[in-house]
Amino acid sequence: MGSYKIAIIEGDGIGKEVMAQALRILRELEQLEPEISFQLEQLDWSSDYYLEHGRMMPENWRDILMPQDAILFGAIGDARVKDEVTIWELIMPIRKEFRQYINYRPVQSLPNIASPLEDKTGINFSIFRENAEGEYSNSGGRMFKGESSEMAIQNTIMTRKGIERITRAAGEYARKHGKCKVTSATKSNAIIHTNTLWDECVERVMREEFPELELESYYIDALAAYFVQRPKSFEVVLASNLFGDILSDLGSGIVGGLGLSPSGNINPEKDYPSMFEPVHGSAPDIAGLGIANPIAQIWSAALLLEHIGETEVAGKVINAIQAVLEENRVLTKDIGGQATTEEMGTAIIEKLNAQYT
Ligand code: NAD
Ligand code: MN
Repeated sequence: MGSYKIAIIEGDGIGKEVMAQALRILRELEQLEPEISFQLEQLDWSSDYYLEHGRMMPENWRDILMPQDAILFGAIGDARVKDEVTIWELIMPIRKEFRQYINYRPVQSLPNIASPLEDKTGINFSIFRENAEGEYSNSGGRMFKGESSEMAIQNTIMTRKGIERITRAAGEYARKHGKCKVTSATKSNAIIHTNTLWDECVERVMREEFPELELESYYIDALAAYFVQRPKSFEVVLASNLFGDILSDLGSGIVGGLGLSPSGNINPEKDYPSMFEPVHGSAPDIAGLGIANPIAQIWSAALLLEHIGETEVAGKVINAIQAVLEENRVLTKDIGGQATTEEMGTAIIEKLNAQYT
């Protein structure tokens, strides 16, 4: 219980639309929980900001974000600005410089949500994606642009420390939540330098620090197939930055789509603020129509509440989302209905209130 400082970066496209609903939820919680209040710092960092200022964030962005308890982020991406600018000048610096080395993405079956899988119930696992190094590095370069000899090099950087800490995070989560098994994604048969280091570090940390947990390791290509064939057999999935990115969209796909999938970029030591955001992007194809599903954003806000210690309240927000889906009345277009973004927000607020009466 207390007063929390939260930075709000809504970003572009549907980021703005879904964030508006998450903010309604936070305001509602302040009414429902008299001991909780939020000091929201609304930041207009976005592609519009870039077009005006020539950068995605002001120079003193660290000073602005550092005193916050957490950051709630929407999505960015705009046809007028290159994707590598929006990503590398906003999301990446925050993730990397604030040592948000865990990207946590829950994957779970939800009531009444269509899935491409025949047997779609009972899926419940969490992906721990390494979020600070790995394949997403800006080391490398391009040469001889436009010539027939044109070439590009992109280095993957993996460190013992980086692999050990994400493994530890996955193991600790498994232990805390009564899970028995951690599944590691690798490609050490082909990517022989970085991925053998990955395998060795994962294996050592699991053996020495989590002897009671089973460790299984699969090549990423096979694991992608198993995600579709037997998703219920996974409990905690541990993966590098790139593999984890792809697996989490796949995970999202098998349980109902991007509109429902939250994530956290977490610095567990709390030396720096952590950032919570939906897995989806700015969805330019539906931006401005008011039909985006706000569930991924609202669920991300729930993960934020959990991170700042408001576990019970976070649970109530997730219950409210599940109650709306259970009722199967208010559905946005992506999950087979006609409801607007705002109507979905209202439905979740009603189910939130119902838990306080
Ligand atoms: P996207 O997630 O924006 O959209 C993929 C598909 O999912 C689209 O058809 C979209 O309409 C649908 N969708 C996504 N979220 C939805 C929601 N809440 N409700 C209903 N439908 C939803 O991915 P994309 O099309 O590959 O990328 C679009 C832009 O977003 C690009 O500029 C990309 O760089 C950016 N992007 C940003 C982030 C981020 O901010 N973290 C993540 C991914 C993509
Ligand atoms: Mn992604």
